[in-house]
Amino acid sequence: MHNIQCDVAIIGGGPAGLAAAVSAKKQGAQKVLIIERDTALGGILQQCIHPGFGLTYYNEELTGPEYYGRFIKQAESLGIESLLDTMVLEVQPTGKIICVNSKYGITYVDAKSVVLAMGCRERTRANIQIPGTRPAGIYTAGAAQRLINRQNEMVGREIVILGSGDIGMIMARRLTLEGAHVVAVVEIMNYLAGLTRNRVQCLDDYDIPLLLSHTVTRIVGNERVEGVYVAQVDENKRPIGETEEFYPCDTLLLSVGLIPENELSRATDIEISAVTNGPVVNQFMQTSNPAVFACGNVVHVNDLVDNVTLESEIAGREAARYAMGSFPQVKRRISLETGNNVRYLCPHLLDIADMDEQITLYFRVLAPEHNVTITAKSGDAVLYKKKAVKVNPGEMEHVTFKTGEIPASSDCVRVDVTKEV
Ligand SMILES: Cc1cc2nc3c(=O)[nH]c(=O)nc-3n(C[C@H](O)[C@H](O)[C@H](O)COP(=O)(O)OP(=O)(O)OC[C@H]3O[C@@H](n4cnc5c(N)ncnc54)[C@H](O)[C@@H]3O)c2cc1C
Repeated sequence: MHNIQCDVAIIGGGPAGLAAAVSAKKQGAQKVLIIERDTALGGILQQCIHPGFGLTYYNEELTGPEYYGRFIKQAESLGIESLLDTMVLEVQPTGKIICVNSKYGITYVDAKSVVLAMGCRERTRANIQIPGTRPAGIYTAGAAQRLINRQNEMVGREIVILGSGDIGMIMARRLTLEGAHVVAVVEIMNYLAGLTRNRVQCLDDYDIPLLLSHTVTRIVGNERVEGVYVAQVDENKRPIGETEEFYPCDTLLLSVGLIPENELSRATDIEISAVTNGPVVNQFMQTSNPAVFACGNVVHVNDLVDNVTLESEIAGREAARYAMGSFPQVKRRISLETGNNVRYLCPHLLDIADMDEQITLYFRVLAPEHNVTITAKSGDAVLYKKKAVKVNPGEMEHVTFKTGEIPASSDCVRVDVTKEV
């Protein structure tokens, strides 16, 4: 049995874990340890060789490996340690972590504070239950991305993609560049699930059709996919039988959503949000267990890694302050209310200390809308007000304000997205 002591232990060495580690070390934590199940740091960005990363954080356009490479360099120069090829099995409420690797076997890590940064995983065919046979040639978009970009394995030639999430659209372009024919991207909603910039750069630029309000109703094929049936859906997302059409193809890619990786968090007994499926956190990215912090896609699914970095820097900094005994004394709790057309807010609540803190609340809308006003209000005080030409569930929005502007008589901040009349 192997034992390790540290100040801050970070579970997951993707962009969230790396940014949290660098920030914790810069804040003054002596021993910061990243525990990662993969044999290398970088997380999912290891397979994201396309550009588009770092536009807001670095004001530069980088590929995934270039983006996380900068954090690995910083982590190395700051003396941050990492335990690779190591799977975390359990995080106990006391902060003790139980993990396993082939070198030491079962290993115990005793940390003064813990940062959860385990990312997310893709929804699969089983999650959405598409009827039909079970032939070869059905992949999640991320699995296909890994096979093509890291293992140099082509997944197919005639491709249908279900779901207009960012990974699906990026893979539509990738497969086209690799010589495949992408027959169509099929989306059940009547709006795009991912970023508009990905629609323009990955579908429109390559003449790849996007079928909104359509879905795959059946998969056909014995050994290998031979085709799929695609139908238009009604306003209740039920397929309209007479619109069903057969699309011959040898491969179906699924880009139908991401699920925060929270098996460890659930077993740790921290509060989980029913909407985001991630830990409930305050503005310090602190969970309902004061010694446990969380950041990145494990909290809520982000569309841009730049935002992941910003919130992970907060998690790392605050986990370090907790470990060093300098965490702020909380004076009052402010609840955050989702108003009109707001699906969730992250962080989920505010724990106000003495200082006048700058807060950024990230959120997604429930439905697309044009010409709206985004407001954050507390009692009679308007903390934030901005007009937006359009909002879309696929693109994360945010509001900012200072905690000092929340009236002493109010214990709630509400965010609304309202159509201008
Ligand atoms: C297939 C795919 C493609 C994506 N493409 C893009 C893109 O092009 N652009 C973009 O901005 N965003 C993209 N994203 C979103 C992307 O996930 C985030 O931008 C960013 O990678 C999130 O960082 P993270 O550190 O939270 O998660 P991740 O990058 O997923 O890192 C989590 C890390 O935790 C480790 N881990 C998990 N559980 C354990 C455990 N029990 N023990 C030890 N280690 C563990 C994992 O191995 C992984 O390395 C993509 C996501 C996926 C799934």
